[in-house]
Amino acid sequence: MFNSYLENTLEYYPENCINCHRCIQVCPHNVFTEGNDHVKLTNPTSCIECGACAQNCPNEAIKVEAGVGCAWAMIRAALKGKEMDSGECGCDDDGKSCC
Ligand code: SF4
Ligand code: SF4
Repeated sequence: MFNSYLENTLEYYPENCINCHRCIQVCPHNVFTEGNDHVKLTNPTSCIECGACAQNCPNEAIKVEAGVGCAWAMIRAALKGKEMDSGECGCDDDGKSCC
């Protein structure tokens, strides 16, 4: 199992993958690529935690906490038609904002 929780909450369980390629089709950041027996997690740090892959995976091979963090704060601000407030996502608790 690859767990890139240091960068985001994406978790991939290749042993559950049935190689249907839905995650490749729905991911906006090309995080997954084709493989022989199962897809490969090639760009885990590009994941913005949108949740599309996990929602479309038919065999629970992907888990991700969608709706949290910087990406979600930006999406929420865009939906409201406002600029994102500094620290809204909580990433600058240590004074080092990443967004
Ligand atoms: S959607 Fe799930 S089962 Fe399908 S290829 Fe991706 S990880 Fe594998
Ligand atoms: S959560 Fe979104 S960005 Fe991250 S791997 Fe899944 S589809 Fe791609």
